[in-house]
Formats: sequence, structure tokens, C-alpha cells
Amino acid sequence: MGMVKKGKEYVCPECGEPCDAVECDSGIGPGEAWGAKFVDKNEYMGSDCCEAELEDAEWPDYEDQRADYEYDCRKDREMEERWEREHG
Ligand SMILES: [Zn+2]
Repeated sequence: MGMVKKGKEYVCPECGEPCDAVECDSGIGPGEAWGAKFVDKNEYMGSDCCEAELEDAEWPDYEDQRADYEYDCRKDREMEERWEREHG
């Protein structure tokens, strides 16, 4: 299908209307449902109207966020090491 445009590019499986894909999380921790075990959070891409799961929806690009997170971690570590050098 090759859907790459931004906007209402999906059809909600719940109500049948055009919808956007949004991140949903129905996580309720570890558990079991209908014989299937699942753990922790349950993230999925869902419609913005009904949060109905969109199986063909693409996840947003997390590269930037991940880079920011790693940068923050690195900064935290550097601060800790510096503090230890000065106070240890
Ligand atoms: Zn809907």
C-alpha cells in the first residue's frame, strides 16, 4: 500500500473513519488473557479516535529521542564522576 503521508492515513478498524495513528498503551502489568501471556506495558499504534489497534501503522521515528536520552545519561554520569572526584 505504501502509505507514507502524514495525516489521516489510516482507517479506524473500530468506527471505519479516517484516522491518525497515535501511540496507545493499554498496559496493566503482567497478566494473562485468553490464554496468552503478556508482560508489563502493552504499547501499540492505535487510531486517534477509538484507540483501536492499527496493525499496519508505522511507529514514529525514535532516533532523535533515543539520542537525547543517551546524551542525558552521559551527562548525568559525567556529573556524578566529577562530583566524586571533587568530593570523594
Ligand atoms: Zn475510530
